[in-house]
Amino acid sequence: MEWCGRPTAVVLFQGCDLRCPWCQNVDSVDPKGGKITELKNIIKHIKELLPMVDSVMAAGGEPLLQPKACLALMKRVRKFGLECGIRTNGTNPKALKRVLPYLNFIAVDIGAPFTDTELYGKMIGRPVTGIFLQKIKESLRIAIGSDAKVEARTTIVPTLNDRKDIIEELALDVIGVDWLRFQQFRNVSILDPSFRELPIPSRKELIKLARTAKKKGVGGVRIFTIEGGLEEV
Ligand code: SF4
Repeated sequence: MEWCGRPTAVVLFQGCDLRCPWCQNVDSVDPKGGKITELKNIIKHIKELLPMVDSVMAAGGEPLLQPKACLALMKRVRKFGLECGIRTNGTNPKALKRVLPYLNFIAVDIGAPFTDTELYGKMIGRPVTGIFLQKIKESLRIAIGSDAKVEARTTIVPTLNDRKDIIEELALDVIGVDWLRFQQFRNVSILDPSFRELPIPSRKELIKLARTAKKKGVGGVRIFTIEGGLEEV
């Protein structure tokens, strides 16, 4: 489901500069975790998948913490006729610009409205300033201004961003994307154990928030839940 409707090989990059308490990629966050792999090994594996995939998606962790490796990967797989996508937290717009010519799809995580530094900080597990959020905003603008399809992704976390007024503001921040995707917070295998007490928002709640966003003029709105999988609202 990293790249909707596409048979995609997903390459997970180790390490992330954020610590979203609801993060489910727990093993990918620590920059010292994982194992070092040579590009040729990844390419070999992708070649084996070739009859089954038409694209490669860089995800993680945060792939743009390793821009050289991202670039090298994309240049190689493009030669096999594969399209390239990336999922990024948006904190490194300069690195995004470097890989931009190779991208057909960009998913950018957006935690909260850009004006709400306190809430954004809670969503990503570290205090942030307006200047820091400008970087994410810039990444989103770079993505929207490119030829790639763009999806803003927001995990709906109870007690943080699951409010109508917050979603209305967030929707206005991402106008211009092809899709806004709301993902359901899960309370197992997540980074911050204190979040395990929170309830999982229902599919119905996500649909309601998706309709709220749609009314604000966002192009396509999708939700991703355990109950219904990926759905267009
Ligand atoms: S969810 Fe947050 S902490 Fe986890 S990989 Fe994505 S940006 Fe990093």
